[in-house]
Amino acid sequence: MDRVIVAGGGLAGVRAVEALRSKGYEGELTLISAERHKPYDRPPLSKAVLAGEVDDTTVDADWDGLRCELLLGERATALRLDAGRGGTVETTAGDRPFDGLVIATGATPITLPGDGPQHVLRTLDDSRRLRAGLTAGARVVIVGAGWIGAEVATTAAKKGCEVTVIEAADAPLANAVGPQVGGLTARWYAEAGIDLRTGVKVAAVEHGRLLLADGDHVAADEIVVGVGVRPEVGWLAGSGLEIEGGVVTDASLRTGRPEIVAVGDCAAWWSERYGRRLLVEHWDTALNAPDVAAATLLGQEASYDAAPYFWSEQFGKMVQYAGYHPVAERMVFRGDPAADKWAVCWLTGDRLDAILTVDRPRDLVQARRIIAAGTPVDPEAVADPGVPVRQA
Ligand code: FAD
Repeated sequence: MDRVIVAGGGLAGVRAVEALRSKGYEGELTLISAERHKPYDRPPLSKAVLAGEVDDTTVDADWDGLRCELLLGERATALRLDAGRGGTVETTAGDRPFDGLVIATGATPITLPGDGPQHVLRTLDDSRRLRAGLTAGARVVIVGAGWIGAEVATTAAKKGCEVTVIEAADAPLANAVGPQVGGLTARWYAEAGIDLRTGVKVAAVEHGRLLLADGDHVAADEIVVGVGVRPEVGWLAGSGLEIEGGVVTDASLRTGRPEIVAVGDCAAWWSERYGRRLLVEHWDTALNAPDVAAATLLGQEASYDAAPYFWSEQFGKMVQYAGYHPVAERMVFRGDPAADKWAVCWLTGDRLDAILTVDRPRDLVQARRIIAAGTPVDPEAVADPGVPVRQA
């Protein structure tokens, strides 16, 4: 292999470049990214960047040292595969042949119908644009009380905006962690002076207002849509690679072609741990999975079997989650969820499947270790916030 292309210049892309070089790849290396910015970190976009505390989150990478050609502002538009190995990435600037390819094109926010202006939050430019509209007194209406919606609401409220959050489900975070746990965060909105309306569906974005499914309107100076993302895989249509939500890979992050791997928010990888395909949109996966993708591309044995992990900073609280709760049989609270600090664990028998913590970072670290090792826990100790989460 002597001509590798990395398509996508997010965290997964830059980490793939670094991992290829650190594992001894010596051939040509090119990173193609649709954005004109050098790869940067996205989590601060809904936090410190939006708040105006930070403006640059560029990933610290030595591009010269990495001997990587950086093609910014260039979009991959199609993939043509040769009969044997290798192929060509068609881009907005021409054809780029390769004999090894890392697909790391991430995800793109879903937008709502309607011809009114709507903000989404995925890129540095999105964040800067929205930041300019978050002035004191501005009526900011956020559609979606998921992770991004909650973080934008936090920042907008802090800046003195009049914030309304509209959520189709019956509770915030219902899609992510279920309505019971998600519902426990509803009071955080009230405490921040935010008008949270759940069970409300939006039909369209109009100029200066939202049209709701029941025909009502909600007036807004700024409309922010945070209703989820879809993997950025349209450019792979017709290539022959299997797409099922994201780019389908095995546990080694290999696609149906041995010289092509996929990683990060665009990849639907086979999890041996959970016996199913996972597609998570978490920074931790974009950080760590490229190591496996690079090893696989170079013909080394590797598989990605981490339990998912992410965090969110909302309403002055650190919310962290590790594991995968959909496989669990039951839920056990650790501490009173009406208090400021609490956690909830998901268990199957004495197996800890997942944990969500609110301002209990030590619980998270201990539980994450146990989840990773798959060692049994004492369910009674799990329910007692006075003792550490520990193995049985
Ligand atoms: P991306 O970061 O999406 O990068 C993909 C890159 O590929 C982009 O630069 C894109 O422009 C480019 N691209 C797309 N299509 C093409 C194409 N056809 N050709 C060339 N280039 C292309 N995770 C957490 O765990 N905790 C958090 O608190 C958290 N906060 C977040 C806040 C925000 C506002 C956002 C947007 C995400 C947040 N995340 C968080 C998620 C985390 O940032 C993502 O999981 C991570 O960025 C995924 O990295 P990636 O490299 O796979 O994809």
